Amino acid sequence: YTPVTYEDTLNKQNNYQTLKAVALVGSESPLDELEEVRLDNPDNLISLVASNKQPFIVSSLADENRYIPVHADTQSLAMVPLVFSNQLVGMIILEDDRPNAFGYEVLQLLLAMSGSLSAVVQSAQLREELQKSNQQLMELDRLKSDFLANMSHELRTPLNSIIGFSRVMLKGIDGPLTEMQEQDLTTIYNSGQHLLYLINEILDQAKIAAEKLDLKFGYFEIKPVVEGVKSIGIGLVKDKNLDLNVELANNLPKAYGDEFRTRQILLNLVSNAAKFTHQGGITIRVYPVTNAHGKTMIKIDVIDTGIGISEKDLPLIFQPFRQVDSSLTRTQGGTGLGLPIAKSLTELQGGEMTASSVEHRGSIFSITVPTEPTVDIPQEDKPQMLAVPKTGPLVDNKEPATKSMPVAKVEKTDTKPNRETTTTEVTAIRATTPMPKVMQTKRQIVLIEDNKDMVDQFRRALQREGFEVVVADHPAYAEAMVSNLRPTLIIMDVNFADGQGWQVLKSLKDRDDTFDIPVIVVTLNSDSQRAYQLGAHTFIQRPYMPDDLIKAVLKAEQESNTERILIIDDDPASIRLLTQLLNQNGAYRVFYAENGTDGISMVARRRPDLIILDLRMPGKDGFAVLEELRSNPETVNIPVIVVTVNST
Ligand code: ADP
Repeated sequence: YTPVTYEDTLNKQNNYQTLKAVALVGSESPLDELEEVRLDNPDNLISLVASNKQPFIVSSLADENRYIPVHADTQSLAMVPLVFSNQLVGMIILEDDRPNAFGYEVLQLLLAMSGSLSAVVQSAQLREELQKSNQQLMELDRLKSDFLANMSHELRTPLNSIIGFSRVMLKGIDGPLTEMQEQDLTTIYNSGQHLLYLINEILDQAKIAAEKLDLKFGYFEIKPVVEGVKSIGIGLVKDKNLDLNVELANNLPKAYGDEFRTRQILLNLVSNAAKFTHQGGITIRVYPVTNAHGKTMIKIDVIDTGIGISEKDLPLIFQPFRQVDSSLTRTQGGTGLGLPIAKSLTELQGGEMTASSVEHRGSIFSITVPTEPTVDIPQEDKPQMLAVPKTGPLVDNKEPATKSMPVAKVEKTDTKPNRETTTTEVTAIRATTPMPKVMQTKRQIVLIEDNKDMVDQFRRALQREGFEVVVADHPAYAEAMVSNLRPTLIIMDVNFADGQGWQVLKSLKDRDDTFDIPVIVVTLNSDSQRAYQLGAHTFIQRPYMPDDLIKAVLKAEQESNTERILIIDDDPASIRLLTQLLNQNGAYRVFYAENGTDGISMVARRRPDLIILDLRMPGKDGFAVLEELRSNPETVNIPVIVVTVNST
């Protein structure tokens, strides 16, 4: 028998223990037919012996009714509690079909045995518990990593707004700022960036722990990476009067790994060196080496003359969340995640990271980067990873399956330590302007007019300007014609067809597929207010000057040709931010949809020239939207920029 505890979760006072049979020898009875015995039952002999923790012999069961034997013909029994450190860990019960079967010697023997048996049972029980709590710990660790990854992800979305909008305001897009406002906003912006940096570190660490960090492998030149790190490093040491030198060996081979992550590793080492060095300088040395397997590697040493790390602390610095001197780090900031992440990233690329240091003299942190593929990349990922062009870490213009539709991806927030996230966004968007306008050459005007003389007059003037003029002289088909042709602009008379022109104008402005085509109203009617209310672009009263008409036509043409951009994003703040940035960078007509389904129908109705798409949306997400756009020949050519916090 072994003890089992039953917990009453509502009322801990009601917890109770039982003894449960775990092994039965010399009997055919099934084990589970033996009832569990509550340890607080005074009418049960097993319970009584267990509480006394002393062996007990029953010479004749005829006189004992507090025990129900396994075998009906049992005459005598011996009960030996197994006790370890004064704790009951089990009980052995022996039955015999003869009376007086257990004498003093048997009891002695059982007692002697019970000592070691108790220890064995106890350690078996402990091992079981240990295994159980190990499993619980592993589960907890997984939950923690998942939580960190999700949380960091969720935090990046609002943070994107904080950084983005403060940047927008700092750039003066929302109007001029007072000096105080500028100072406050700069603090908000910098704090946002700092927070982002920390969140990204936690996200990276969680991804590494969960083995979910994807690297983008490819060949790249190490020199520009090191030089980029140097220019940021100079900013970090400029107030400290430290030197920052780069020594590059000649004829360095190309590196093979993840360029962006390599930059991240080096930035971490250089910013640590800058943090912990107060005099002297920092040197970044880059040279080829041959590793133990005869492979050429690029070695990068980051050497500083700083405070150094003691021999006892050196092995600890690669442990997550570990900081050598928390008092020092508190003044310097940091999460203690930088080095463990940098080391993991180096190893994931197939390289190694080492550190050596002498206290008060300085430290050398070194990494190696392969020059050819070493890490096993899953087969299906290979072509995709190798195909990533070297356009920098943020914009990876992955060539989609359908060649004709360019898809650029801009991550909303960058990973450590980039202090120009929002700038990058703006640059990425700028990079797409001016966009090639597919239908640029079409210059078509639908003329809604039933007066033959007027039609001739307009036609002559407009054709001189190079426009193609199509006439709709009946309200029954004016609307359909505009919808089919989608002309550059419309010229119409509201008095047309005995005043039915008003209704035509209203319908054109109500329809999704025609509402944004500029309408120039040329009429004898004087109700310009009504025309503008209905959405007319220009109102010209007859008789008119031909020059005025041409001027209005050219202006409307220009507006008609501004690119339509559709933003599909479920986060209203994101939409607002993107709209502001777009308006800042050119004249666009910006539409938006707050979910994938609306987005798709908006694409059909508005025929945008460009789509800016978020990936993570409830319901139909960005991936589904992309798939649908690609499978439809009408939308396959519309370029899409993915702007997302999702890094998939
Ligand atoms: P943190 O983000 O807190 O700096 P790291 O993992 O990058 O975390 O570094 C862990 C600790 O290692 C630091 O807190 C510091 O004590 C020590 N350390 C790292 N680099 C250096 C260096 N170049 N010189 C001295 N100490 C260093």
